[in-house]
Amino acid sequence: MVAIVGSGLAALAAFATLRHAGVPATGIAVFGTHADPTEVWRERAAAIRQERMRSESDGHLAAASFPGLALRERSLRALVGTATNRYRPSVETFLAHAERVRRRSGWDERFTERRIRSVRAVAGGFELDGDGPFAHVLLATGHPGLARVPGTVHAYEPHEYAAKVAVIGAGMAAATEWRNALAAGAEVVSIRRREPLRRPLNVPREYFSKRGLASFHRLPDVERAAELRRLSAPSYPPGPEWDAHVRVVDAPPPGFQVISATGFRKGFQEDMLLADLVAGHGLDTYDRWIVLSSDSAVPALTDETRTLSISGVAGQWAFPAGDTIAGAKYAARAFTRRVCRTRS
Ligand SMILES: Cc1cc2nc3c(=O)[nH]c(=O)nc-3n(C[C@H](O)[C@H](O)[C@H](O)COP(=O)(O)OP(=O)(O)OC[C@H]3O[C@@H](n4cnc5c(N)ncnc54)[C@H](O)[C@@H]3O)c2cc1C
Repeated sequence: MVAIVGSGLAALAAFATLRHAGVPATGIAVFGTHADPTEVWRERAAAIRQERMRSESDGHLAAASFPGLALRERSLRALVGTATNRYRPSVETFLAHAERVRRRSGWDERFTERRIRSVRAVAGGFELDGDGPFAHVLLATGHPGLARVPGTVHAYEPHEYAAKVAVIGAGMAAATEWRNALAAGAEVVSIRRREPLRRPLNVPREYFSKRGLASFHRLPDVERAAELRRLSAPSYPPGPEWDAHVRVVDAPPPGFQVISATGFRKGFQEDMLLADLVAGHGLDTYDRWIVLSSDSAVPALTDETRTLSISGVAGQWAFPAGDTIAGAKYAARAFTRRVCRTRS
């Protein structure tokens, strides 16, 4: 029996990939907090009025990469754009496709609403809060929560714009909020610890290829952690589309609405389930990361008979862009390979 813990985009990608590889729906249990696997993401994207995906044509949750969203959109503009890495699917296209993946895969029948508090290795696999054992478990619990500045509204929570807006942060969400608030006619100021970095993608394209990834996997722990820290610095794309003329200030001026575009709390220590797992099994960690093998498995708890893997942001040790749809798929495919190997 296979279990997925978590109920977001990464969980659905894993469920669809397992099903595509021939694992019957009845052989998979999903434990999560949201029956709709797009809900958490959708609400955050809606809060910052995101209309286009940050990812490209292959940023969808179906098991096979082909056909991508550009082909599904059936427009010449989309196809030309994808050839030059300029195509960004609409959020609407992405969500409609995710809904189809959810229906076709049988997700709803296998979903149980339940927050899992403990994962323990036992004979035959893993117990989840004492239930099981499950031979193969994928943890896809997402970010451990928003990084909040007290007394402010977070960019990823629903909000309107006042006439005067101060945005804390210097990443993609901050850049989006400057544009949103300016478009709403507000006076906008920016509060930032450092000058924003302008990068097309948070994680360089080379780390999405086998070769680039192999070079990342060869880095000694200290350098790997430094690289992950470097990549997590706030950034947004170059180009006039993203240029916004906002005044930089040290603190919110009186009378300004304050929006925190400060992202998420960071590290396995902030996720109760992962922190408990690490403590309970004495797992290897480095700084804020759980040390994983290159295929996203927890080495000490994975062998030929059982698998414990981690997807999403907590799986960055294996895939630097863990917190993307590409990262969800990387972990999903590697996990499925292990599951299928032990089933044959
Ligand atoms: C606004 C925004 C826009 C983005 N746009 C893109 C984009 O265009 N392209 C792209 O590739 N990436 C994008 N990302 C990045 C990434 O795809 C998302 O962060 C995505 O939501 C990650 O999916 P996930 O499943 O890891 O986490 P989540 O979607 O957060 O899902 C985790 C789920 O697991 C549940 N859970 C947590 N702990 C437990 C537990 N102990 N037991 C049971 N359930 C639990 C949570 O409640 C939640 O339902 C975006 C991120 C944001 C915030």
